[in-house]
Amino acid sequence: MDRRDFLKGSAMTAATLAASRLAYGQDRAAVEPPSTARQGGDVQWNKAPCRFCGTGCHVQVGVQNGKVVAIAGDQKAPVNKGLLCVKGYHVGLALYGQDRLTTPLLRKGDKQVPISWEEAIDIIARRVLKDPKGFALYGSGQWTIPEGYAASKFVKAGLGTHNIDANARLCMASAVTGFLATYGVDEPAGCYDDLDACDVLITWGNNPAEMHPVLFSRVIDRRSRGEKVTLIDIGTRKTRTSGFADHSLRFKPNSDLAIACGIAHLLVENGTYDKAFVEANCAFRASSTPPTLEGKAISFEEYRELLKPYTPEKVEQLSGVSQKDLRMLAGLFGRRDVRITSLWCMGPNQHTQGTAMNSLLHGLHLLSGHFGKPGDAPTSLTGQPSACGTVREVGTLSHALPGGRVVAKAEHRAQMEEIWNVPAGRVSEKIGYHTVEMWKRFSTPTEQGGDVHTVWVQVTNPAQSLPNTHKLVDPSRKLADKFLIVSDVYPTATTRIADLVLPSAMWVEKNGMVGNSERRTQQWFKLVQPPGQARDDGWQLISVAHRLLELGFAGMKDKDGRFLFDVKGKDGRSVPIWEWSHYYDVNVDEHLFEEYRKTTRIKHKDLAPYQEYVKARGLRWPVVQQPDGSWRETRFRFSGFDDPYVKKGRDIQFYHSTSHDDRAQIWFQPYEPPPESPDSEYPFWLCTGRVIEHWHTGSVTMRIPQLRRAMPQAYVEMNRADARKLGVDNGDLVTVETRRGKLDLPVWLGGRGEPVEGSLFVPFFDERLLINELTLDAHDPFSKQPDYKKCAARVRRRERVAEKQK
Ligand code: SF4
Repeated sequence: MDRRDFLKGSAMTAATLAASRLAYGQDRAAVEPPSTARQGGDVQWNKAPCRFCGTGCHVQVGVQNGKVVAIAGDQKAPVNKGLLCVKGYHVGLALYGQDRLTTPLLRKGDKQVPISWEEAIDIIARRVLKDPKGFALYGSGQWTIPEGYAASKFVKAGLGTHNIDANARLCMASAVTGFLATYGVDEPAGCYDDLDACDVLITWGNNPAEMHPVLFSRVIDRRSRGEKVTLIDIGTRKTRTSGFADHSLRFKPNSDLAIACGIAHLLVENGTYDKAFVEANCAFRASSTPPTLEGKAISFEEYRELLKPYTPEKVEQLSGVSQKDLRMLAGLFGRRDVRITSLWCMGPNQHTQGTAMNSLLHGLHLLSGHFGKPGDAPTSLTGQPSACGTVREVGTLSHALPGGRVVAKAEHRAQMEEIWNVPAGRVSEKIGYHTVEMWKRFSTPTEQGGDVHTVWVQVTNPAQSLPNTHKLVDPSRKLADKFLIVSDVYPTATTRIADLVLPSAMWVEKNGMVGNSERRTQQWFKLVQPPGQARDDGWQLISVAHRLLELGFAGMKDKDGRFLFDVKGKDGRSVPIWEWSHYYDVNVDEHLFEEYRKTTRIKHKDLAPYQEYVKARGLRWPVVQQPDGSWRETRFRFSGFDDPYVKKGRDIQFYHSTSHDDRAQIWFQPYEPPPESPDSEYPFWLCTGRVIEHWHTGSVTMRIPQLRRAMPQAYVEMNRADARKLGVDNGDLVTVETRRGKLDLPVWLGGRGEPVEGSLFVPFFDERLLINELTLDAHDPFSKQPDYKKCAARVRRRERVAEKQK
């Protein structure tokens, strides 16, 4: 099977699946947008990155008579070389669901009634003015880079707080802390080119065949050309990726740390680790008391002692992975003649030990020297198109500042005050509320410490995506002094409960830039007009900032008395970009990006000028100017043969080392039991996740008829043995229940995924079946990322539940 066949197969699966599935609930948004068939010769083609996942494919967008009428894979794009997955091929239809939000809506009693933009902007500004510290902005890895930068500046330079966080906290935060703990700087050293060069690909709790299909197809393509790539799938559930694997290993939920420790144990005890690489480039770390992200330095001998209990026998007992398979894995890592790439995404991240698991994965590659050569890399993938660019690089997190800076460091705050030209002390030293804390405080009465009074949500859907939503979201709706503002493109679970709804422009209805999983920054231009009164999220932020200025809020002025978002036109005069009619008189994106670019040097995340991205299909940072004036991207970071910041003559240099000696840290992290485990009352594990057809909460892909028909509703996957015991068959309704809630779902047996006995899997895309009402809000102590992958559940046939209730 080659790359095209693999992707065609994925599309076929998507298109035909509906026939074998039950319809469930109301088909609320089943509307038919115009066809995307290729049109005649007067179609104008332009480039843009795909709207959906973190792979970062580029598409060619065909526009005719002011409408997107065709989509084609971009042949010139190095990520996808003309190919797309089923979501990418339909991305043009994302704009044309018939229930687009087109006017601001204000809640009056039970109804949301249309109001003008002027009123809406004024309402937000007055809410902020009333209580700036009680205001929080909740954004997303779907914000473009300029939007995220504007949001960060609005809160951190304007309001003088850090009450801003993004939904990447729910998906990527543990990857960030894992990188920081290991290298002292965030984001992968390797890139997608590793997939073209590796001999062994290990997927850790990861299903790229569905979640990053175009990326996975690069490996399938190599096999079809006769190249040998050994694929090892390590996970808690059989997935489509498992189907391509040479070795498919199942482990008990939460025990991945034991497996990683077991591999390290064998490498050390057998002396098959890469002694030369480790002695030249690594140091050892373990948890400190109290625990910190930097931990404490330990010697190699101490490291060896800590690993001693993780014998193959012990690891088999903890994880369920056989001693033979563990030895096979250690054997591969111990070989110098093969190149190994590890891929992971939500499995190790959505974990109460996410930081620990991420640092163990990096540690395995460092210990074995499988690092820094094409094909030898630990690579963490992102789910959203700009989780890296907008959240991690721009710093739209409550503890972060742009360019890899952190709130905790006084020098970083001072640097940002200088770049933003705001008075000393404006950038607060008080870290803001991370996602779970922000929503907890919003849902708690003021007198009980609920000091977040207004939340403005942009480009995300927390009422569906947050864990334990009964606790984190619902209570706020009964509290009179809490006010929820939501900017989005379609009605969602969150807009329906909002006090104020703002209609947003999406994707090619505005200019944009995003950053994908391999440090690649991509750019596009606005190609069509948004519908009705929908407007850019960036404009919404700037417009509220200006209204605050008009109302006398000093924070929206810089030290020279200029508006924080002052933009000059070619004539040197300020352009009133807060007025919608003037927003596109200048390229606001270019202005914001050039300002943001100044922040990217301290962590060597250098970006090229905006105009370089206009010409390219993305560039991977650091992007450094050459003597001839051209700009060169970096594929392999910390590697002397490619990274311009590695000292001449060095093979490897970890130049942001937390031990300040150019060394990366190999951590020991112990296995610990999960926060909640199955017991006699709740005997199943429940895991949540995604499907190939739908992107995240489905708010966009459920408007695309082909995708909606292909996967119309959520379901619960269970093992056939469990189904037999319960007396249920395909399509039967069951009640899945945890200590936090319950939900009726149809059963799907032997589908594209199959959990092991005692496990359940439910996707979270379906807003009619909110699985996150059942999940835990327990989170990693460093990254604050919640664990969606394991909690205790029980499952009963619905009829029996009904009989009981009579
Ligand atoms: S793999 Fe991701 S970026 Fe590529 S076409 Fe599919 S959804 Fe879009």
